Amino acid sequence: METASRLFPYVWPYRRMAVLSIICAIFISILWAGNLSTVLPMVRVLFQDKNLHQYVDEQIELTQTEIEHRKSVIDQMPTGDVERRARAQRHLSDTTRQLALLATTKKYALPYVPADRFDTIALIFGCFLFATLLKGIFIYLQEVLVGGIVNRVIVDVRKKCFRHALSLDYQTIAAAGPANLMSRITNDVETLAVGLRTVLVRLVREPLKAGGCIAFAFVLNWRLTLLSLLVVPCIGLLFAKFGKSLKKASKGTLHSMSGIYKGLSETFDSLKVVIAFGAARRHRRQFHLSNKEYLNKSMKVIRLSALARPTTELMGTIAVLSAVIPGTYLVLRGTDEIWGVKLAPGAMDIAQLSALYALLAGTLDSVRKLSSVYGDLKRSAAASDRIFEILNEKTKVPEPKEPQIVGRHSRDIRFENVSFTYSQEAVDGNARPPALRNVSVTVPAGEVVAVIGENGSGKSTLLNMLPRFMDPDQGAVLIDGVDVRQIRSHDLRSQIGIVTQETQLFDDTIAENIKYSKPDATWEEVEEAAKQAHVIPFVSHLPAGFATQIGEKGQKLSGGQRQRIALARAILRDPSILILDEATSALDSQSEHIIHKVLKQFVKGRTVFVITHVINDTFLDLVTRIVVMDSGCVAAIGTHEELLKTCAIYQRLYHSNKSQRVA
Ligand code: ADP
Ligand code: MG
Repeated sequence: METASRLFPYVWPYRRMAVLSIICAIFISILWAGNLSTVLPMVRVLFQDKNLHQYVDEQIELTQTEIEHRKSVIDQMPTGDVERRARAQRHLSDTTRQLALLATTKKYALPYVPADRFDTIALIFGCFLFATLLKGIFIYLQEVLVGGIVNRVIVDVRKKCFRHALSLDYQTIAAAGPANLMSRITNDVETLAVGLRTVLVRLVREPLKAGGCIAFAFVLNWRLTLLSLLVVPCIGLLFAKFGKSLKKASKGTLHSMSGIYKGLSETFDSLKVVIAFGAARRHRRQFHLSNKEYLNKSMKVIRLSALARPTTELMGTIAVLSAVIPGTYLVLRGTDEIWGVKLAPGAMDIAQLSALYALLAGTLDSVRKLSSVYGDLKRSAAASDRIFEILNEKTKVPEPKEPQIVGRHSRDIRFENVSFTYSQEAVDGNARPPALRNVSVTVPAGEVVAVIGENGSGKSTLLNMLPRFMDPDQGAVLIDGVDVRQIRSHDLRSQIGIVTQETQLFDDTIAENIKYSKPDATWEEVEEAAKQAHVIPFVSHLPAGFATQIGEKGQKLSGGQRQRIALARAILRDPSILILDEATSALDSQSEHIIHKVLKQFVKGRTVFVITHVINDTFLDLVTRIVVMDSGCVAAIGTHEELLKTCAIYQRLYHSNKSQRVA
């Protein structure tokens, strides 16, 4: 039910198609019940020694005498006996209704019915065939309409998920994990589609078909039909019970599918390492384990949904029999009541019984089809839960309600008493130590500041506060005196350029990768940025030049080349603030040398943060001041010379670097 209300806004735009498909389903159900009802005239013509005209005339005569008889009975009753009179009146009106039906049949239907018995049956077969053809057309139309709706809805949901995921903050997305998100946006959405298709086709059509059959059966004999409907609440109760377990099990399946995605993406993302360390076996083993888990979980779902069909079949048969057995009794004994309870308007004949049986069996068929649908529904409800978990996730870095307009950064950047702890649920539920503790640093505009410290000392975390990858738990980050939380994130980030250790390039041309930071850049601007970043020397050797495709994640280029493209990208953006997070740490010394040369030019007139754990002389040539971080705190701030004298941590870092270089 929850799933339905969640999906409603997505289906609403396609309501016209939905209404059309429901109309198709109505026609299908009428034709279905009509086809089953042909049993009535068939049996009558086959088993009775008269044609339909004679039969109807005879029936009309019989009914008329019965009415006369009943009338006289009522007239003779004492007026005081209200109860008996009322019952007799009811019987009389039943019989009168029957007469009316017969008269209508005689007037409107019989003129078209041939007098010969075989011709009559041939006509019935003809009608049957035509109705089946018509039904086929409506089935086709309904499926196509529903397919159209479902696929459109699914595309919408998928797009909405992607859009919403991108609007979340970095920490939330990273904690969810890319494989998990991917599996939800692909596999889970697909599972949801199966459920939605089921709802719109089966869940509309089958109840209508069942309803049609029951309506026809009601006209035929409402008492017996009612008797068989008594079983329905029991079926409902049973299903509500095991629906819950089914949904839970389905969630397990989807979750383990996320595991499979994770295994795949992890393996293929680090293919080089996997091959180099001969770790294929280990990855195969992991993959085997997640597949085994998936198998176990999905078998549970299968066992549960396999129960649905036989259960409904049994209950349905009980329902049909509870009408047919008394009906058979009535036919064989030639009576209309059992134990004083009236069960038919008059004596039932074999044709009526057959038709009743056919119609109830038709209902059972629909119920059976519905029961196999149940598993799909529960599976997609589980998928919908997981999808809407993403859609309901709130970003931890909300946009300001009353944003402040800021010009190009020109005064200073201040970290004031910043403390931050990574959220607990992201990892293992254990409390984590704070990544930053009361960090205060002020950097005047135009300065080049190095942030130095051991691995895990909180350098990246600190600088991640600046473009608001996350917000501090306490304290504030201010640009020119304005809290970054007060600046519209687009305005804020348009001032910041970031180059990280693992360059993030896309499977596109070199030119497009540079233009990524400023899509409307002119060709001259791109070329200028490329020139500054020393991209030109290696691009000119490529046959396709700037139009060279660099492959997924830029794997067709060397590390140094990738980094230079990343720099060109940052240069093109012309940021007032530049963050270099270990930008040269993974490079060979020649590439590092080139990058430093580029930076020397580029840092002019910008506020720059260089995060590094490698201190060398070209690097020192670049920076004006150094911030030393230690276990989430600022240990010292000063120039190279000052720190060498006063800061033990800095001395240790500097000397260990030196000895590494000598070695
Ligand atoms: P540095 O950049 O100085 O090497 P980081 O700022 O990346 O260090 O990390 C500081 C601390 O925060 C480390 O102890 C690290 O384990 C932890 N940390 C970093 N990123 C995350 C994350 N996404 N989730 C949980 N903890 C993290
Ligand atoms: Mg780091």
